[in-house]
Formats: sequence, structure tokens, C-alpha cells
Amino acid sequence: MINYIIEKPEQPYLNIKGSKDLFPVRRIYCIGRNYADHAIEMGFDPNKEPPFFFQKNPNNIAIDNKFPYPPQTNDVHHEIEMVVALKSGGQNILQEKAYEHIFGFAVGLDMTRRDLQAQAKKLGRPWEIGKAFEKSAPIGILSRYEDTGLMDKGKIKLEVNNKIKQEGNLNMMIWKIPEIISHLSKFYGISGGDLIMTGTPAGVGPVKKGDQLKAKIEGLENLEVNVV
Ligand code: MN
Repeated sequence: MINYIIEKPEQPYLNIKGSKDLFPVRRIYCIGRNYADHAIEMGFDPNKEPPFFFQKNPNNIAIDNKFPYPPQTNDVHHEIEMVVALKSGGQNILQEKAYEHIFGFAVGLDMTRRDLQAQAKKLGRPWEIGKAFEKSAPIGILSRYEDTGLMDKGKIKLEVNNKIKQEGNLNMMIWKIPEIISHLSKFYGISGGDLIMTGTPAGVGPVKKGDQLKAKIEGLENLEVNVV
């Protein structure tokens, strides 16, 4: 029998629509600047710079509809994103085979300490301090691929205190889901349990304590998060 020398850390997980089973989370890959209008609002030319990846930690997930305002920042931004959950993986996956590895989809938020991220960018340092902190990845209930279909189009929208802040369509992604999975699998051994946050449309902005965020993607379960 294995005896862990300290208490075994909890396995992060997501809930699944219509099921008591849980989806265990292994890694969280995030894509940057995957909607042209968001790349432009951040000061970049989407025609010159292709999307790129960073990661959050699996235990940065928040599934309790609460986002505690994080420390060491005065500028935390919301970024609504569709989350793809993989049931299997591999290396060098062909685009035509990518959907065979998908378990399902959920609505997520890539919460970002924008001031710390901006500082890191300026200094040529990694983004973790801006992106991978406690509860920085609120994610809603997973819907199964067999129930949702391809999720290659559909409205994506974020409301803060019932005012629309971000609005777009999944068909505006620069890199489509099969391209993202194929690309990631060239660099990493991707696997069942991995999540991919697929980027945010324009309209990102700050949140403050007391705000109510409503994140919606056509065909998926809404995600509601209170900033506390
Ligand atoms: Mn993002």
C-alpha cells in the first residue's frame, strides 16, 4: 500500500450535467488572443501574431460560484471562455481525429490580475503571477459532447451586474478547436482530464467585490460567479 508522507492533495474536478460522476482535472491549457477583436483591444495585430498558450494550475479551479478578490492587485479582469474537456489524448493528434478526444464543454472564466500580467509582459517574465492564482479559473457544469455537438459556433456573452460586457460568437475563434488540440499535442503529451480554455472575445474589464458575473454560451449551462 502507498503511504503518502503528507496528506494527499485533493483531486480537482468538474461536475457533469445530469450525472453524479465527476470529471477529474489534470492540466489547464489556456490560449491567448484567440479572437481578433480581443487581440486588437490588447494592442496586438491578430494578422501578425498567432495565438499562443499558457497554463493555469488544476487546483486554481473554482466550482462554488465564488471568486474571492485576490491579493496584490488593483485590476482583476474577467475573460469569458469556452472550456474543452478531454477524455483522452496523445501526441501529434491529427485535426481530423481531434474531436474523438473530447469529453465535453463548459463555460469558464480566465480571471486575470491584469496589472501583474502587464508588468510581467513588460519585463519579459512569465505570466503565472497574473493568471494562475487561487480560484482564477471559475468553471461551470460540463455538458457532454454527444449532447452539445461540435460547439464551433454559438453566442458567447458575459454580463456584469446584468450589463453586457463581452459578446461574441464561437465561430470568431482564430484557431478552431481541432487546430488547438492538434497544435497542443505537438508540444505536450495531452491526456484525459486536460482542460483547454479557448480564449476570450473583446470587452474584458475590471471586476470589484460585490459584482455578479453571468457567463453564457449558447448550448451550455450558464456560469454565475459572485466576486467576494
Ligand atoms: Mn484568456
